[in-house]
Amino acid sequence: MSYSTGQKERILAFFSDNREKAFTSEEIIGCVPGAVQSTVYRLLQRLAEEGLLMKVPSEHGALYRYSDPERCPHHMHMECTVCGRTCHLDEDISDRIRRAIEEETGFSVLPSTVFRGICPECRK
Ligand SMILES: [Zn+2]
Ligand SMILES: [Zn+2]
Repeated sequence: MSYSTGQKERILAFFSDNREKAFTSEEIIGCVPGAVQSTVYRLLQRLAEEGLLMKVPSEHGALYRYSDPERCPHHMHMECTVCGRTCHLDEDISDRIRRAIEEETGFSVLPSTVFRGICPECRK
């Protein structure tokens, strides 16, 4: 296993443990043991391209969050515009929202649509 493969696995494990949160690259460097800054930047970019992470713009710059390439394309997401925290909505709920919008507007709605709002933490 090469050095950067080990870091990739640790980064993915970290996101898998924190599925609802989004992190800046600096936070990831601080949270993942043995993370090397230049490698982390490169890995985050590549993982986002591969669909294993989602890159989210925020008030604090780019954030990265967990993305499941098997399941995330089939459900909608709720994203906090302040902290970048994301909820993965249930597939049943996603289908109901989609059907309601399609009936109302005639639009064909993307199954992975992201809604934006302010999370309970940031509303406090
Ligand atoms: Zn998802
Ligand atoms: Zn928030």
